[in-house]
Amino acid sequence: MNAEKIFNNLNQIKLSIDEHQREIEKLDQEIGDGDHIFNIQRGIKESLDLKDKLIGQDPDQVLKEIGMKVMTTVGGSSGALFATLLINMSKKYNSELTNQKNIASMFTEGVEAMKKRGKADLGEKTMLDVFIPVSIELQKLSDHEDVKYIAKKIKEVAKNGMLSTEDLIATKGRASYLGERSKGHIDPGARSSQLAIEAICNTIIKT
Ligand code: ADP
Ligand code: MG
Repeated sequence: MNAEKIFNNLNQIKLSIDEHQREIEKLDQEIGDGDHIFNIQRGIKESLDLKDKLIGQDPDQVLKEIGMKVMTTVGGSSGALFATLLINMSKKYNSELTNQKNIASMFTEGVEAMKKRGKADLGEKTMLDVFIPVSIELQKLSDHEDVKYIAKKIKEVAKNGMLSTEDLIATKGRASYLGERSKGHIDPGARSSQLAIEAICNTIIKT
């Protein structure tokens, strides 16, 4: 893990999010207020703008600075939640661990902080339905040596988590105002989070 790799991944995330812009916008129009794609694209742009300043710095510093930038510039529930994920991931960085163990422990810490921040858990039709199963799977696979194998597995788990939101009734966030009517739609935050995780996994699988 280093600053350059983090920004490369961010570029890949940007490409995938931009490609699925209309779809994400539509999902949030159906069960939210339609601004989710705007919030995500703003966050990615603000983060990428930090590249020149942060290149060469330690990965925890990079994640923390990006998280703080997202916290102060991106609106919506998702801005605060993604910022919480990044800032708390940075706290667990330990350069002595293998990449696999490091990512697993950092991600778990970040997701736990998101759960607290959003007062939400699995099954509430949010991005946590992607993040929680992914953090559990990362822990399970952290002894595995083959990173491509891990990436393929994580991609699958993220996709299943995203798809699981379709049949759920939202109990957190704006979509919860719709109650039963939130059923039958994929959660926009789950979709954007899954696309981001998929972009990172694909980068690992291809290299
Ligand atoms: P807002 O809902 O404030 O308009 P966004 O549209 O940017 O913010 O993000 C909406 C997404 O945020 C939802 O699709 C959901 O995944 C996520 N979300 C909303 N509230 C929570 C919460 N309390 N915990 C976890 N995720 C949440
Ligand atoms: Mg919204």
